[in-house]
Amino acid sequence: MKSANSLMSGLGTTVFEVMSALAREHQSVNLGQGFPDDKGPEEVRAAAADYLLNGHNQYPPMMGIPELRQAVADHAKRFQGLEVDWQTEVLVTSGATEALGDCLLGLVEPGDEVVLIEPLYDSYLPMVRRAGGIPKLVRLEPPTWRLPREELAAAFSDRTKLILFNTPMNPCSKVFDREELDFIAGLCLKHDAYAVCDEVYEHIIFDDRRHVSIMTLPDMRARTVRIGSAGKSFSLTGWKVGYITAAPDLMKTIAKTHQFMTFTTPPNLQWGAATGLRLADGYYSTLAADMQRKRDRLAVALADIGFDILPAHGTYFVTTDFRPLGFNGTDDDFCRHITVEAGVTAVPVSAFYDEPLRAPRHFARFCFCKHDETLDKAIDRLGRHFRK
Ligand code: PMP
Ligand code: GLN
Repeated sequence: MKSANSLMSGLGTTVFEVMSALAREHQSVNLGQGFPDDKGPEEVRAAAADYLLNGHNQYPPMMGIPELRQAVADHAKRFQGLEVDWQTEVLVTSGATEALGDCLLGLVEPGDEVVLIEPLYDSYLPMVRRAGGIPKLVRLEPPTWRLPREELAAAFSDRTKLILFNTPMNPCSKVFDREELDFIAGLCLKHDAYAVCDEVYEHIIFDDRRHVSIMTLPDMRARTVRIGSAGKSFSLTGWKVGYITAAPDLMKTIAKTHQFMTFTTPPNLQWGAATGLRLADGYYSTLAADMQRKRDRLAVALADIGFDILPAHGTYFVTTDFRPLGFNGTDDDFCRHITVEAGVTAVPVSAFYDEPLRAPRHFARFCFCKHDETLDKAIDRLGRHFRK
């Protein structure tokens, strides 16, 4: 028999699935894969449930239901000051994951260069490569994860089609500041490249930082694609409702890709997401404040156990250096070890690199978007394990 696509068949199973399966097998407290304990806002779930029972459960419009597209545009105006035409500039997708795939398959021509920033979310590289793109990777170095400007400038060329990056950033919890975004924008303008910005954690941002979309920077409006996710903004990761905002010319091709990827997304979940995007400002500030408190609860306790804690400015995650505990194996070894021996699961940060063997091997990512009891149980188990 002929073989399947070699690029895809050569991939491993995503680290989130692997670690969650291991967590189930060992009944550990799963602080690996990022999903909240919280059920999400009741009005959002009630809106989706009501629509499921009483609404129109047939194919919605290919671009998404008007109510959600309007809500995405209004939300962009409210939080980023962006004027968005919901009819030509907003597309609903089945999660940010589909959105990323639509953008890469829709925009990248075989042989185009794509600039990416490591550590990176695990779907980026396989999709860039499947689209025929040539990845140009630039690494951020811990513990500051500062943008290395010379390396980034050197990664761009006139063959660069786009830069794909993520802020607030999974897994290292960096938030790109205005100067860094200006620098990236300058390179995009100089080399006539697009910026595809994964902003799924736009509302999960701490210590009075403010999320800035690169789309708002001078001359970037027409060359930026902005991606959001209801999963993250409403603590409903299983819903897989995403949204793309882009200028009409870019959107046309992205939407043509979407039409043959999923075509549509369940209408009741779109209705729920629209309800969520219309929640008052207080909902969003409470979400960020709650997550910040959870970050502190987990980070302080892990530091007390002996981990070195790296700063976490946004997202669901805190990165820890486990070497001070005296553990000498790799991050894979460590995450398996604590799952099996301590009953707590984390995710190895080297999984977020193109070549894990050449990545830092001493960081474990812990997820804090959990009930306090869950965090305390994990802390208690790790404390008992490492202090014995
Ligand atoms: N991008 C990043 C950085 C993420 O952490 C996630 C997490 N799930 C996604 C994209 C995918 O989002 P969704 O679940 O909406 O597909
Ligand atoms: N984004 C989540 C994380 O980083 C998981 C998403 C997934 O399981 N695909 O943990």
